[in-house]
Amino acid sequence: MPLALDTAVQFLRGVGPRRAEAFGRMGVRTAEDLLYHVPHRYLDATTVTPIARATVGAEVTVVGRVVSKAVVPTRRRLRIFRAVLRDDSGVVECAWPGQAFLDRTIRQGQQLLVTGPVRFYHGRQLVPREYVILADEGDEPEHDGAEGLILPVYPATEGLSHRVIRRIVADHLDALVARVEDDMPARLREEAGVPTLAVALRMVHRPETRREQTTGRRRLALDELLDLQLVVARARHLAKHRRSGITFTVRRELTTRLKDGLPFRLTAGQRQAIREIMADMTGEDRMHRLLMGDVGTGKTVVALFAMLLAVENDYQAVFMAPTELLAEQHARTISALLAPLGQMPEVLLGRLSAGEKSAIRRRLAQGNSPIVVGTHALIQETTAFERLGLVVIDEQHRFGVEQRAALIAKGEQPDVLLLSATPIPRTLALTLYGDLDISTLTERPAGRGNVETSFRAGSERRALYALLRDRCAAGQQAYVVYPVIEESERVDLKAATTMAAELAKRLVPVSVGLVHGRMKPEERDRVMRSFRDGKTGVLVATTVIEVGIDVPNATVMVIEHPERFGLAQLHQLRGRVGRGDQPSQCILVTEGTGGSYARLEAFAKTSDGFKIAELDLRERGMGELVGTRQSGGFYLRFADLAADADLVILARREAMRMIEEDPLLESAVHLPLRRRLERRYERGMELFRVG
Ligand code: ADP
Ligand code: MG
Repeated sequence: MPLALDTAVQFLRGVGPRRAEAFGRMGVRTAEDLLYHVPHRYLDATTVTPIARATVGAEVTVVGRVVSKAVVPTRRRLRIFRAVLRDDSGVVECAWPGQAFLDRTIRQGQQLLVTGPVRFYHGRQLVPREYVILADEGDEPEHDGAEGLILPVYPATEGLSHRVIRRIVADHLDALVARVEDDMPARLREEAGVPTLAVALRMVHRPETRREQTTGRRRLALDELLDLQLVVARARHLAKHRRSGITFTVRRELTTRLKDGLPFRLTAGQRQAIREIMADMTGEDRMHRLLMGDVGTGKTVVALFAMLLAVENDYQAVFMAPTELLAEQHARTISALLAPLGQMPEVLLGRLSAGEKSAIRRRLAQGNSPIVVGTHALIQETTAFERLGLVVIDEQHRFGVEQRAALIAKGEQPDVLLLSATPIPRTLALTLYGDLDISTLTERPAGRGNVETSFRAGSERRALYALLRDRCAAGQQAYVVYPVIEESERVDLKAATTMAAELAKRLVPVSVGLVHGRMKPEERDRVMRSFRDGKTGVLVATTVIEVGIDVPNATVMVIEHPERFGLAQLHQLRGRVGRGDQPSQCILVTEGTGGSYARLEAFAKTSDGFKIAELDLRERGMGELVGTRQSGGFYLRFADLAADADLVILARREAMRMIEEDPLLESAVHLPLRRRLERRYERGMELFRVG
């Protein structure tokens, strides 16, 4: 049978039904899938540490022969598999706790690759996270650490070892690559400086240098990013053009009066965002925009301009927030700003009486109330609008897709403005929110106290208590935050609870409150309200403190075990203080100056949320920064958003241009791309069918 890319992998020489089944478990079904089953790591002299140089505390990859092995019982009936590895430089013991079964797989004389941390336990001991059998006893060693040799290591599965995969790929690579066609327009390939697809696949599977491997990977990354951007560009196109939106006109009534009556000067960023929003709203297409900025950058005011533009065009505007507390806070900000205009927002909250709620709903349905602020209560079926023109959703990621859609569906193609207090790097935003237009607020209003970040050793608790006492005596308030993670939740909660009791004792007569994730939402709201109203002086909290909570009187943020938080999360916490005009501080309580200290220092030095998000992305990859959007979205296999920023921007620009020019990708140059999307992204392609 002639070899083709869609040949089932089973029919490739060396595979057969049993291995095909194992390949299937890894998603490899055709010869083409096999080409895209790329190595997940590469070994060369730069990645492998000579055993003698594997030091305690380091994370290493070593390669060595098994010189002895044993299963050792422990007192706690946990059986440990141990193997001693030797290379030219020395020997090291590896220990796999609870994995006695490895005794059946790993044999003396085999050459193993292991990766993991080295700890001290009667000498150096390596605890592998990953191991790969590189060669059996008597085989030529796969890897001798010699310079120049790069060995690809493939993701493997039960019944299909990485060695077998490597041999199969090696046997078929040339024949398969010869059949690969390149869908990417040559112009784009040249601009990005990436090779043809065939060359790239060869470079990834059989690189001669590390550089080649990177070059090949970047090409695959660009393909993947382009696919994704084409799908989001298509979604954006549909959201804006399917039915045209409302064309508002600037009547200079309410918006101008708001601007003239503001008690402060708008920041340059706010003015820019307002311009962008007004341009969207007065245009024919629907607005579909995300406004991103740290807490306190003044998003609500910007949203209010949009709302008043809708109102002066005789439409209604709705503002939805994820919790009652936040909804109340926004209602207060908005009421204060609207008072001089003789306007009052409706405030629709779940906790109002049935009578109050139905009265509000009646006014909304009859069009008597132009502006409403509220919570999920707004989405309920009983809420209807006479003429809804603008939907604003605060902390948009905290609502599900269906919830956002339910609110939007209450109008006829209303414009949509989403707010987010979680700044994310541009590359990530363009990837996750590629279908939205994005405005960003990076500066805080002038006159806001800057937050000074400092370190304090755990042993200096007395000084810390003294500081808290002083601040409270001066009428200010403080937060003390504890990390609570799932694995050690009970212990962590106990630590937070103990701390709250200890503080209450030391800070008498200051009242100390406690909030954590195990409390009922109403109970939590009660404690938070008491803090907001100044009745509680110090709030001990786990990470559940509301992102947007605004207590200008809070000037101290103490963070225990800061090393256990991601940088973006620390930044969110720090944003709870510095909201009034008093100088504020963020104190990181650290035990030592270990490895995590450098990242905390970097954090202490900058207050720009976007920069911190960038650091966080480099540190932890996109996973942590990505909310619910990920599950419904894409999984990037080749692209690295921290390293490939240029490709993200290029792919975005090209995709927008292509869809603008040829919305269904029907032209001769674009058709191959569409075919590829059809093969790869069933869901994304639905967007191309509704034309
Ligand atoms: P965000 O929603 O971005 O966290 P808000 O819009 O709630 O921020 O603004 C926080 C506070 O700052 C509000 O009381 C608001 O009135 C005030 N504010 C907004 N913009 C400015 C500005 N340019 N100068 C001074 N204060 C401002
Ligand atoms: Mg806000």
